[in-house]
Amino acid sequence: MLYDKRKVVLVGTGLVGMSYAYCLLNRSACDELVLIDIDKKRAEGEAMDLNHGLAFASSHMKIYAGDYEDCRDADMVTICAGVAQKPGETRLDLLKRNAEVFRSIVEPVTASGFNGIFLVATNPVDIMTRITYALSGFNAGRVLGSGTALDTARLRYLLGEYLNVDPRNVHAYVMGEHGDSEFVPWSQAFLATKPILELCDGSTDVCIDKMNEIAREVKGAAYKIIEAKKATYYGIGMALTRITKAVLGDENSILTVSAMLKGEYGQKDVFVGAPCIVNRSGVKRVMEISLNEAERKQMAESCRILRESYDELG
Ligand code: NAD
Repeated sequence: MLYDKRKVVLVGTGLVGMSYAYCLLNRSACDELVLIDIDKKRAEGEAMDLNHGLAFASSHMKIYAGDYEDCRDADMVTICAGVAQKPGETRLDLLKRNAEVFRSIVEPVTASGFNGIFLVATNPVDIMTRITYALSGFNAGRVLGSGTALDTARLRYLLGEYLNVDPRNVHAYVMGEHGDSEFVPWSQAFLATKPILELCDGSTDVCIDKMNEIAREVKGAAYKIIEAKKATYYGIGMALTRITKAVLGDENSILTVSAMLKGEYGQKDVFVGAPCIVNRSGVKRVMEISLNEAERKQMAESCRILRESYDELG
């Protein structure tokens, strides 16, 4: 910890940001929480609302609407700010607008003297994390995105339901882009210490079909939720809290965050979802797991797509 209190600054107090803030409070994950939004009144209202729950919380937390100078002595700055796609707007135009939003955030954060860890949730999260890295000039390990942490949680939940076991005993990951090219390396998926592909009833083919169906469901989950209720926010709020706890608690936890690859899986200079050891220094290490040939190709394809999107920004 940089200082004696665990201080988090949240930028972007929309649905995702406030689900995160609410979860931080309920899990006593920090001691001080600063809320920043371009709509200052909104941040103030959210701070009031959360403060009114303090009497029911399990520990005290200092919560207030602040500004970028408050980042000076913060341990983490978490960015959930972003603009929504306008009708008819291309993916690239949206990306350009969000890059401008990030410039207006990351520059004043670093100008404050901030010396902690950046955590990014805004989509497309792998690209926005790389933009944060470029704008901040920080060492890559100190910039991480939520990556495929939420997708991995969805996978573990669905596998837990199918196998009828606690998802916390399922050890399987979603890797790659947080998006359409993400994939599940089934060769490295385990229930306790047993390979999941050995567990299905019937033949291996039936098993692979079922597992691929689960992977498709994970990939389509956000689309389904957005169709039903316009946005997703509780799951990501919990995923961000989990990552925050790993950083502030110096936990050395393995989480599938978006991190810069430096030769792992034969890839470099790209931020992508992969199992990483996360602690007070941010990404301490990208854990290179043993992918088979087909899975390495899927990782390479995800990285190619992400590099192309980033390069398109110019
Ligand atoms: P939202 O519209 O509810 O909130 C966005 C907030 O950002 C608003 O309060 C807005 O005022 C603020 N904002 C915009 N420009 C700003 C600026 N320049 N400075 C400060 N604040 C600014 O959106 P949301 O539903 O909370 O989603 C936020 C982002 O999280 C989106 O990009 C969404 O796609 C992403 N998301 C990511 C995941 C994931 O797994 N990584 C999951 C769900 C959503």
